[in-house]
Formats: sequence, structure tokens, C-alpha cells
Amino acid sequence: MNDNKYKIKVLPENLINKIAAGEVIDRPSSVVKEMIENSIDAGADRISVIIKGGGTSLIQIIDNGSGMEEQDAIMSFQRHATSKIETFADVERIGTLGFRGEALASIASVSQVEMRTVPKDAIEGTLITIDGGIVQKVDHTGGNHGTMISVKNLFFNTPGRRKFLRTPSTEYRHILSVINRFTLCYPQIGFSLVNEEKEVFNYKPVSFEERLGQVLGERVKDHVVKVQEKNALFNFTGFIGDNEIIRKSRNDQFLFVNNRYITDRTIGAAVVAGYGDTIPKGTYPLYVLLMDIKPERIDVNVHPTKSEIKFADQQMIYSLVRGAIKRTLASDQIVTGMDFDETGNTSPVGANDFKSFKRRALIDDMRNFSSMQTSIDFDAHPNSAGPVMPAAPPMSHYSLETTSSRSQQPPASESVNMFQFHNKFILSQIKSGIVLIDQHAAHERILYEKAIESFRARDASSQQLLFPETVELSPEDFQYLMDILPFLEKLGFVVKGFGGRTIIVEGVPSGMRIGNEEKALLDILDEYKIKLGTEVDIQERVAKSFACRSSIMAGERLSYEAMNTLVDQLFACDNPYFCPHGRPTMITISMDELDKRFERK
Ligand code: ADP
Ligand code: MG
Repeated sequence: MNDNKYKIKVLPENLINKIAAGEVIDRPSSVVKEMIENSIDAGADRISVIIKGGGTSLIQIIDNGSGMEEQDAIMSFQRHATSKIETFADVERIGTLGFRGEALASIASVSQVEMRTVPKDAIEGTLITIDGGIVQKVDHTGGNHGTMISVKNLFFNTPGRRKFLRTPSTEYRHILSVINRFTLCYPQIGFSLVNEEKEVFNYKPVSFEERLGQVLGERVKDHVVKVQEKNALFNFTGFIGDNEIIRKSRNDQFLFVNNRYITDRTIGAAVVAGYGDTIPKGTYPLYVLLMDIKPERIDVNVHPTKSEIKFADQQMIYSLVRGAIKRTLASDQIVTGMDFDETGNTSPVGANDFKSFKRRALIDDMRNFSSMQTSIDFDAHPNSAGPVMPAAPPMSHYSLETTSSRSQQPPASESVNMFQFHNKFILSQIKSGIVLIDQHAAHERILYEKAIESFRARDASSQQLLFPETVELSPEDFQYLMDILPFLEKLGFVVKGFGGRTIIVEGVPSGMRIGNEEKALLDILDEYKIKLGTEVDIQERVAKSFACRSSIMAGERLSYEAMNTLVDQLFACDNPYFCPHGRPTMITISMDELDKRFERK
């Protein structure tokens, strides 16, 4: 018989493990992750990690968990050997972090391992040494109960893998971020880390909030608010941060699903959507969310390192998470709005110690401003850019409805305390100083909130056009229009089909200036297309497009009434401080600040 005749052979077990190791163990931090998971699964409440050479020389993990009997200890290094599941049904309702039975076998095949393990209540334990997957020694040993595993010379027998390692300090950084995740999710467990023989931290078991401070910095505790959500699908609790500690990266975003660190775009996007436009573009709010969901509603077995999962009810979860974040932010415990520092300066982004009473005070201040006596005497400066000017021809699609009673009064010069400058900004006196308002940003905010409100309302308020406008759209635009038509109708547009890609606009939102219906609709469509890449939620996208393209622009002259209405409506908004894109709508300068700048004190 000729052995060479057949080319296909079954690989030896040890080689299989080495190949498989590539999947589960790609760098030192994955060893750390797998071993800490094992310690947690073993019920440890004290876990120590010791690192040398970025984890390539040594990774040692010591726990006070259940430990193992000798036979289990030997078995634990076998591939597909696990104590955590017995049937496939177990995978579907998994309650432990591990279950694939691959980690120890993989790790042992590409390193030199020593394990010392002593079961609870035993006086004697087991010591095993393994070299590149081959068991060298099994011995008896004494010691504290729990398990200690040292992994030395990682990838010593897989030069290809070793080549891909970065510098020890980079690998160490990866290890650190892996450990940070566990420390955040398991505050009831004490963790310590020693790197290059120096203690990095030693956290005692504490509350979730205390741990947040330990890991992310004590300062963070003053800038987070607790979120809590309970519904038919899942529970979650956690903390979300304000604008003061906002980042330009996702570094401070942690999601744990059933006590497992997960990267998930749906939930990440839902949280950000919950913040809405209160955060500037390109920034990432802090969140640490612990979600509990019925194991059968998720699939954890979609990724070898289990860092991603699949939700059965993705869309629903998105809405529920977004809603929970929104409600939390609205509940006044946190203000992602204007902020005052000790000097009275305002910074548009940030919510430092700006508590709700301060916010209310400012709004009251603003609402009362019209009844105040002004010190600005326009009569003395007849040529100044006073407010009593006829309005310039409209440049925007939307007119400011001047409905408030006081705006009907003619602006007697002594009561004027508001004027427009550079046809762009509105300046006004308020009790505590002065405020500058960006007319476009402010109007955008107003229209945006109106749009959101009309999506919720049952009947749209629209005005019938005397001469319906016929518009022919490109195939692409027509498709987009069909997508968003239900929302446009809620806004007050009345659009009928005319066959093919031609539509007839029969009505527009009430308040919208007549005579430019075609342009208004196309502008909204264009803006909608631009926003496709950035805004996931279709309603938000329509509302923002509508607000952006229908609002008064910079360069537009406003009458006194229009300014009055604008300011009035702005302060009736839920979030008057930012436009829907996160730019500030106003800047205030306090009297203190003015006095200081003029060196009056
Ligand atoms: P899995 O965690 O998927 O079951 P592992 O290869 O990580 O697979 O571990 C194999 C088995 O070894 C586990 O099922 C567990 O019974 C045991 N084990 C591993 N680490 C520990 C530990 N630190 N303490 C107690 N038992 C452990
Ligand atoms: Mg494991």
C-alpha cells in the first residue's frame, strides 16, 4: 500500500489547537481577556493580573474562585473541553462568559503555561506545566484556594504570529483597556494590576458609581447621570456623561450585555440619537451601560471572541435605548446646555456645575426681558443700526409668525432693548448682562422642534395654495420624496401625483411663505440627501432638513416684531441653546464679565 497515494490527512490535535489559537488568541490582551473571563466564571471576587514585556514575557492571573480538581485541571487544556455547557440548548441561554472550551487549549498550544489550582475546602491542589501544548508535569501542590495561571513566552512557537505583535507598550495598552472593561462591569470584584513589577492599581470591591470614579477618574462622577430602563425586552442601568467630559473618540463608551463587553453599532447609535442635537457633531458622550436581556433574544455565538452579538429585536432595541437616554437627559438632572464657570463666562458646550435652577433662572431672565427698562437710547444715535427698520424682502421660505401680544405694540424707542446687527445677530439686554443670538441657528431650532411636534400631532396644519405648483423631479429625487412623503405631509405639505415623476404641490405648512413651493421642497430633498450619511433616524433627518432649509438666513433684515417673535419662540423651545446641528444659538455675557473686561473693579 502506498501511503503517499492519499493527500488528505487529519491534523494532529496539537496542530489544530495552534491553528485555532489564531482565531481566539491574536495578541496578549486576548489571553488576558479569556483568563479573566474564566476567573469570573469560577466565581472569584478577587483577581490579580501581573504583566511583563507587554504580556509576551509573562501574563499571570491569580483568582480566588472555585479552583479545579486534578482531573478537571488536566481536562481544562483539552480543546472543546468545558464545564459550562452540555447541550446546544445551553448555548442559547448561556449565563457564563465562556462556553466554547477553546481558550485554555489555544493559549497552551502557543506558550509555556503553568497552572496551580486548589479547589475550595481542599488542602491540596494540582500543579500542571505545559510547553507548546504538550503536558510536561502534573504534580500535587499546596496554597490558597483558587487558580493561578502563568503564560510565558507567548507565540514562542508561532513566529508568524509573533511578527504581528507591536511594541510591548502598545500591547500593554491593549491589555489595560481589556482589564478596564472588566473592572467597570464587575465593581463587586476586586482587581489589581502589576506591570513590570510596579502596581498600577488595586481596586477593592465597591459600588458601580465608585468604580466609575476609580477607572475613569473621580472627576467623571460629577458629570454623569444615572440611566435606568426596564421594559419587556431588557433592563439596563448605567451612567451617561454630560458635555463637559465629552470626547472626540469612542474611548469612554462601554456597553455590557449580560455582563459581557460588547461593541455594537445599533446601541451606540441609539445612545447618540438619544442625545439628539445637544452634543456637537463628531463628539462622543461617555456611557457605561449594563444591559440585561433574555439570553434567547440574543446570539452571542456570532464572533469567536464573543465581542459582538446579534439582537433578535434590533429595531425595537434601538428605539427603546434612544428613548431611555432622551428621557434621562430631559429629566433635568443633567443639562447639556449652556454653562457658567466661576467668572461668569459662558461656554456653549458643557454643563459643569450648571444645575437646573440656574437654567431656569436664565430662561426666566430671558422671558422677562421685554418688560425691562433699557439703558440703550436709540434716539441719541439716529444712524445706528436700530431695529425700527422695514423688513427686507424675505430670503427664506418661512415667515416668522408674529402672534405674541406684546410684539403687536409699536416699538416705542424707550422700550427697545433688542436690535439686529450685520443682519445676522440679535443683541439684547437681559437681567444678568447681554445676550447675542444667531438668527439662523435660533430659527432652525424653532422650526426643528415644530417639525418634531407635528410628526407626533394627528393633523397637520397646512395652507392651501391658490395656484397649485407642478414640479417635475429627477428619478432619484422622486424616490427620495416617496420615502419621506408621509413626514412631509405631517409637516403640512399637500402633494399629489401627476403621473410619472411629476407632482403637484397643493399645500404647504402654515407659516411658510407662498410663492416658492418648488424651491422649498427641492431644498428639503437636497438637505435630506446630504444628511443621509450622518443621521440614521429618518424623522430626525426630515426635521433637520426642513429646519435648515426653511429658516431665515444670515443676511436677512428682521423687523422688530420678527425679532421679538423669534426670541419668544426660541425660549419656548425644549432646548433653546443649540441649533439642531449642535451649534450654539446664543452667547450670553454677564455683567461681571463686562465689568471685568472694562476693568471696573
Ligand atoms: P470555556 O471557558 O469556554 O469553558 P476554557 O478553555 O476557557 O473554556 O476553560 C476550560 C474549562 O476550564 C472551563 O470550562 C472551566 O471549567 C475550567 N477553568 C478555566 N479557568 C478556570 C479558573 N480560573 N478557575 C476554575 N476553573 C477554570
Ligand atoms: Mg473560558
